[in-house]
Amino acid sequence: MKHDDIQRALQHAPVFSPRALDDSQRPLNVDGSAQEREAVHDTSPHEHDHSRLEEASETSRGFEGCLGPVPRVAMLGGTFDPIHHGHLRSAIELREALGLDHVRLIPCHQPPHREAPGVSSEERLAMLEVAIAGEPGLMADDRELFREGPSYSADTLASLRAEYGPQARLVMAIGHDAFLKLGEWHAAERLFDDAHVVVIERPDHDAPLPPALEALIAGREVETVQALMARPGGQLLRLSLPTRMAISATFVRERLALGDSVRYLLPETVIRHIEAHDLYRPQSE
Ligand code: ATP
Repeated sequence: MKHDDIQRALQHAPVFSPRALDDSQRPLNVDGSAQEREAVHDTSPHEHDHSRLEEASETSRGFEGCLGPVPRVAMLGGTFDPIHHGHLRSAIELREALGLDHVRLIPCHQPPHREAPGVSSEERLAMLEVAIAGEPGLMADDRELFREGPSYSADTLASLRAEYGPQARLVMAIGHDAFLKLGEWHAAERLFDDAHVVVIERPDHDAPLPPALEALIAGREVETVQALMARPGGQLLRLSLPTRMAISATFVRERLALGDSVRYLLPETVIRHIEAHDLYRPQSE
């Protein structure tokens, strides 16, 4: 899909407004009326937080220097234990909604905020690779496998920022369940130094925001893709993507442990990989 087509498509992409959460939880469309709200963002008290990023008044697609268009890239990190269709549809639809060059799926090597997965990082990466084979918009990114210590997203984003440069539009995408814990993450403020945070609404995950999180995101929220992409990072957008799937890796693991079918919850290529490598063996064996 060309970027012009993507831009046209995102005119129809529903955006879940953070402000709307306070009143009617009503999704907004990305249209002309929403664009007017960009002016609200321009008075954000967090403008100084963009100091590490080069300010830009144009959208990234409008800014074309001699080196070509400004990159638009998202990171979707996770344990991917195993990767499933909830991850994959979210990544595809995120790319379309934001007009991204690609989405980098980054397996977490040593999760700082949860138990270590039972399956190795290398196997989780291998499942990810077979899942996205042939899909040009999605990339398997193994950078966290080469870092010692806990795999902090702040460090991963810093390395992506160094790679893509100060003008690139960099997004950290997370599901609403992960977003609820963002206030407890290591160096949470630093995440916004290097990237935007885009929250993907997820079925059955709509709890109210904890106070620490409210404080972290205060003044950062924007309501349109255009407002988000007007800057390299530092802002927050909530998206309600077209396909919201109530699939979790926990559910997949539970079914595999019972020897139940997981067909259509994850790609056939991943199921074959699981069988061939004897992963997530039923507990009775
Ligand atoms: P688990 O059940 O083991 O906690 P998970 O299915 O939530 O796993 P993760 O690898 O932890 O998968 O998730 C990586 C990222 O993808 C997180 O930001 C998570 O919120 C998001 N995500 C996972 N499943 C979905 C889904 N069905 N729809 C949208 N986002 C999802």
